[in-house]
Amino acid sequence: KMCETSFSLGLQERMQRLQELTDFTESCQADLKGLFEALGWSQELDSHAFQMEVCPYDPNHTVPQDRMEKHKASCQLSKMGYSKEEQAEMFDPSVYYEKANIPSVNMDKDTFHQVILQTPENAPHMKSTGLHTPSDASTDLPDVPQNHKRALCDLTVADRLAIYDHVIQQASQQSAKRESNEDLYVDLVAKLKKDEEQSGPKSHLEVLAEMRDYRRRRQSYRVKNVHITKKSYTEVIREVIDIHSGELGRIWQEVKDEEFKASQRSSHRSHV
Ligand SMILES: [Zn+2]
Repeated sequence: KMCETSFSLGLQERMQRLQELTDFTESCQADLKGLFEALGWSQELDSHAFQMEVCPYDPNHTVPQDRMEKHKASCQLSKMGYSKEEQAEMFDPSVYYEKANIPSVNMDKDTFHQVILQTPENAPHMKSTGLHTPSDASTDLPDVPQNHKRALCDLTVADRLAIYDHVIQQASQQSAKRESNEDLYVDLVAKLKKDEEQSGPKSHLEVLAEMRDYRRRRQSYRVKNVHITKKSYTEVIREVIDIHSGELGRIWQEVKDEEFKASQRSSHRSHV
């Protein structure tokens, strides 16, 4: 009898607790409903926007479909051990090279492993472990470093030298297709010409005079740069910048002179 009483007491207590919880969830539901109404939102979820997917790098991550690409990029870096601070400093520089006349070399994981396996240091390692193809060895090899610190930590001096050689070779192949740094110079003049065209048509004579000046300047540039191949990269770039600055300075001075003349003419006219 004692047992039955304590059982029914326990049951009552549990029923009471259940009622309390039900009341609590109902009051929460009512609060939420009021909030949604006040904001004018619908409580029904947009099933398309909230389509969830599982992250390929960590099955514990469930991410909305539309944010998956962004998450994957950051999650992969996190798995490779890059901190949030390091990730914040990373960016995709390809946008700078899209239209610029600069050779750029992309290094994917396979190319990267092929390159570092060519070093004499890594070649014997491949033989001793009985590995024959780069894909077999890929578990032992470092990932493509995503920042400078990682490149210094993960790669040996020989690795870095092999990558340097590879990049230089690729870049020189790319730039061999282009003429030389003079392209940059021609592009600037062409661009300025285009801008001038937009500001007003030129007489045939003016165009001829400009072409003559341009040829003379280019000739003098060539004469001055006969030994261009013996110059260091910095020296070449310094000269290109010098020439561009001089060119811009000259054009701006011409514009100023024109404006000055025009203002004098108009003030002169108003006096007469
Ligand atoms: Zn993830």
